[in-house]
Amino acid sequence: MARRDSVSSRAEHDTFDFVVVGSGGGALAAALAAADAGATVLVLEKQPLIGGSTCMSGGMAWVPDNPVMRAAGVHDSYADAMAHFEAVVGDVGPASSYERRHAFLTAGPEMVSFLERLGVRLVYCPGYADYYSNAKGGSDSGRGIEAVPFDGHALGEWSDKLQPGLAKSLGMAVMTNEARFLSHYNRSARAFAVAARVATRTVAARLRRQDLLTNGASLIAQMLLAALQRGVTVWTDAPLDDLLVDDGRVTGVRVTRAGSSMDIAARRGVLLAAGGFAHNRDMRQEYGGDQPNQGKWSISNPGDTGEAMQTAMRLGAKTDLMDEAWWLPSPRTGRFGQSTLDQARQRPRTIYVDAAGKRFVNESNSYMEVGKAMYARNKTAQAVPCWLIFDDRYRKRYAHVRSHPGWFPRDLLKSGRLKQAWTLPDLANLCGIDAPGLAETVERFNEFAARGEDPDYGRGESAYNRCLGDPNRNVHPCLGPIDEAPYYAVEVVPGDIGTCGGLVTDEHARVVDQDDQPIEGLYAAGNITATVMGRHYLGPGASIANSMVFGYIAARHAVSATGRRPDGR
Ligand SMILES: Cc1cc2nc3c(=O)[nH]c(=O)nc-3n(C[C@H](O)[C@H](O)[C@H](O)COP(=O)(O)OP(=O)(O)OC[C@H]3O[C@@H](n4cnc5c(N)ncnc54)[C@H](O)[C@@H]3O)c2cc1C
Repeated sequence: MARRDSVSSRAEHDTFDFVVVGSGGGALAAALAAADAGATVLVLEKQPLIGGSTCMSGGMAWVPDNPVMRAAGVHDSYADAMAHFEAVVGDVGPASSYERRHAFLTAGPEMVSFLERLGVRLVYCPGYADYYSNAKGGSDSGRGIEAVPFDGHALGEWSDKLQPGLAKSLGMAVMTNEARFLSHYNRSARAFAVAARVATRTVAARLRRQDLLTNGASLIAQMLLAALQRGVTVWTDAPLDDLLVDDGRVTGVRVTRAGSSMDIAARRGVLLAAGGFAHNRDMRQEYGGDQPNQGKWSISNPGDTGEAMQTAMRLGAKTDLMDEAWWLPSPRTGRFGQSTLDQARQRPRTIYVDAAGKRFVNESNSYMEVGKAMYARNKTAQAVPCWLIFDDRYRKRYAHVRSHPGWFPRDLLKSGRLKQAWTLPDLANLCGIDAPGLAETVERFNEFAARGEDPDYGRGESAYNRCLGDPNRNVHPCLGPIDEAPYYAVEVVPGDIGTCGGLVTDEHARVVDQDDQPIEGLYAAGNITATVMGRHYLGPGASIANSMVFGYIAARHAVSATGRRPDGR
C-alpha cells in the first residue's frame, strides 16, 4: 500500500493555489496555464538561474498537428501521430498508455495555441524530419516548432537570471533549424545563405545592443515574461525540500528560502517539474540496469540531481523506465555536446565501430537510438566507448564547432584524444581495435558508399538521416568512402541530455502510487516522469514537448473543478 503520510504539516507561512517546482519548459507552461485560469501561482527554482535544461537546449518542441505547422501549410493529423506512437514506441507500459498518448496529442496543439495567445512567438521548423520518418505515421517535413529570436532585455531585472542558452556558447544568434545549415556553410548555396542570415542577425543585434536569445533561451525568456506579467511569483535559490501531506493528499511544499525552511500551502496542487537525475551518481548506479552510467558524461543542467523525484518516491509514488536517458553519443574531443566532432556520425566518410572493428548501428540515426545501440552492442563486443573513424577528406571538407574545414586536429592530436595514422591497421593498433576487423569493415563500407546505399544498416534511407547530412547535391548526404590517408579515430561515450524515466503519471499528469491510484494533489511533468515517448525520441523537441504538454495538462486539471480539493476549494 502506498505510504503517503511520511511528512507532517507545519504552520503555513504562505498560501498559493498552485505550486510549481522547477522553472524549465514544463514548469513555465504549467504556471502560465494556471495563472491564466485565475490561480495564484508560485514557481520554485533551486538554482540562482531560471530555465533548467530547457533554457540550455535547442528549444524545439515536437507537437504533432500543431497550429503553427498548420499555418505554415503543412498537413498532419492526430491519426497519423497516434499510428506513429504505436509503430515506434510500442508497448512500454503505463508511461505511454493509450490514454497518455491521447492526452499528449490532443492537449499539445491546444497548448501551442494557448502560448501564442499569450504572446509567445513560435515558428515551424520545415524539413527537420521526425527521427523515425520512415515508420508508419512519420513525417518527412517534420513536426517541430521553435521560438523566434527574442531580446532578453525585455525581461528587465530578470534578464541576467537565465541559464546560458545554446547559442550563447557559439556567439551567434542562430535558431535551431538554422544550426544544421550553419556548419555546412561551405557545402551548398542554401547553407551559405542561412549562415549569412545568421551572421547578419548577430551583427545587427550587437549594433542595436540587443541580447538576442534563440533556442531554449528564447522559449524560456518569452514564457517567463508572460508569467511575470500575469502575476506568477518566481523564487530562485529556493529548493523544494519535501512535500506536505494531509490525510493522503499533498497540500503544499517545504522549501528553503534565504537559509530558512518554510512551509507553503498549495490549495489546488503541487507540480513537480524539477527535471531528472542525470547528475545523481548514486541514482544512476542504482537504476542503470543494462545501460549503466554514472552521469559523468551528461550535459544536462547542474540541477538535474533527482531529489524532488525522491520526495515523491518517499510518498510511495510508482516509477518506471528508470534506466532510460535521452542518450547523446559524445566524441571525447572537448566539452560533451560541443565537441568538434558531434556532427561527424551524420556526415559522409565516417563510421562508428566497436573494439572488434565492426559497425553496429545506422550512425545517422537519432542520438538516442545510437546511444542505445552502443549499450546493446556492448553486451557482445566493447562499444562503450566505441570509436568514430574518419579520413582526411572528411577533415578537409567539413566545418566543426568553432573551426573551419581543415583546421581542427592540431590541438586534438596534441592532447592525444584524436588518434591519427597513415594506414588503417596502424590506426587500429593505436586504439586497441581489432585491425583485420576494421580493415574488413571499411572495405565493405566503401563498397556500399560507392553504390550509395547501406544494406547493413540503412544509413541515408530516411528523411531524418538526410536532413542532417551533407547538403551538397553532388555527394550522398550520409555515405562516403573512408579512403584518404591519414585516418583518424576518437573515442565516443554515451553522454546524455537528461534522464527520462521517473514518476509514473496518468493522463492528467497526476502522480500514481504502487496501486496505480493518483496521489491527490501531486502532479509531475517532464524528465522527472517516465516519458510518454517511452524508449524512443520521436522527433526534434520530443523531450521538451513531453515536459511542456504534461505541465499544461497538470495545471488545467489542478485548477479545474475535477482537480479541486475534497472540501470543494
Ligand atoms: C544542450 C542541450 C540541448 C538540448 N536540446 C533539446 C532540443 O532541442 N529539444 C528537446 O526536446 N530537448 C532538448 N534537450 C533536452 C531538454 O532540454 C530536456 O530534456 C528538457 O528541457 C527537460 O525539461 P524539464 O522541464 O523536465 O526540466 P528542466 O528544464 O531541466 O527544468 C528543471 C528545473 O528544476 C530545478 N530543480 C531541480 N530540483 C529542484 C528542487 N528540489 N527544487 C526546486 N527546483 C528544482 C532544476 O534546477 C531545473 O532548473 C537538450 C538538452 C541540453 C542540455
